[in-house]
Amino acid sequence: MTELATRLSPSGPRESDWAAAVAAIRAVAPAGKVLLICHVNPDGDALGSMLGFALGLRQHEVGGLQATFPGEFEVPEPFAGMPGVELLVPEDQAYADPDLVIVFDVAAESRLGGLVGRLSVARETIVLDHHASNTGFGGIQLVDPQAAATSVVAEQLLARLDVPLDARIAECLYVALATDTGSFRFDMTTPRVHEMAARLIATGIRPGEISRRIFDTRPFGAMKLFAEVLARAALDPTAAGGHGMVWTYATLEDLRRHGQRPYVMDALIDPVRTVAEADVAVLVKQIAEAEWAVSLRSKGAVDVSRVAIAMGGGGHRLAAGFTGHGTPGEVVVAVRDQLDRFLI
Ligand code: AMP
Ligand code: MN
Ligand code: MN
Repeated sequence: MTELATRLSPSGPRESDWAAAVAAIRAVAPAGKVLLICHVNPDGDALGSMLGFALGLRQHEVGGLQATFPGEFEVPEPFAGMPGVELLVPEDQAYADPDLVIVFDVAAESRLGGLVGRLSVARETIVLDHHASNTGFGGIQLVDPQAAATSVVAEQLLARLDVPLDARIAECLYVALATDTGSFRFDMTTPRVHEMAARLIATGIRPGEISRRIFDTRPFGAMKLFAEVLARAALDPTAAGGHGMVWTYATLEDLRRHGQRPYVMDALIDPVRTVAEADVAVLVKQIAEAEWAVSLRSKGAVDVSRVAIAMGGGGHRLAAGFTGHGTPGEVVVAVRDQLDRFLI
């Protein structure tokens, strides 16, 4: 067993880690600065767990409180109205000398971009995460690979801080939970997940309205873009030990032609992974010249997190990603070469 596997207990963080996190937060002086950071290209879990926790922390009257993420300061349109967005600052305006840094939904330091240096400056760092591939960075690690979303860990830490849920906190944590469970459809949709959803909905939030805003609303141009990208999908039934692979790609030129922002492509993997003839779905999204953000999904035949890790990325068994180089065809050939190695 690797050192990481020994440390990441299947039952989640140890009691001593929870206690250390609570103590570190309570120790922040009234004039102290707390900086919350989530991963680059933030998704619903990254932003939702971070902002939900931030709104809870505000009740603690910590001195200064900021939330941020690395890279271009663009909040994807579906999240622009999320409670707590007013706490977000661009990376270059984030405290240079925070007393406490709290990190959300980040499996590896590489996902912190230019903000990684803040971790060594801070007196203490707390990492809230749920990736089995978490590299174990940071001071206090609240990493629960059994948790369906980072917001599950965030809710537990708020409870230990005696912060009651209100509708604003609940909306953020609900967006996070719904995002990472695929709206309560994926395998990790356990009784614990539905119990948490019940606690959140009991605060008065409107799940129908939230889901429509977050998952079911996009510009007309995005629909046209999806149509084009889906039309060029290719199926390789022999890949993944005969379980099949379907793949497609989207370029920055595609986005430009349809007047769309990069975040709209985050939802594109969902129609791709519905293909019955393929266990594995691959979406190759251009981020720069010869640089691609690659999304991998499996229905269960392949542990795609191991493929992603082999390619320098990370993620979960059935949903993972990495940054690829070259042409889309070259990226997919590299993935195809790895797939047979990690059949479950
Ligand atoms: P995505 O395909 O972007 O929705 O990501 C699926 C999962 O893979 C998420 O849990 C991400 O945290 C993880 N992931 C995606 N890209 C990377 C990357 N470049 N490095 C590490 N993990 C990644
Ligand atoms: Mn995430
Ligand atoms: Mn997550």
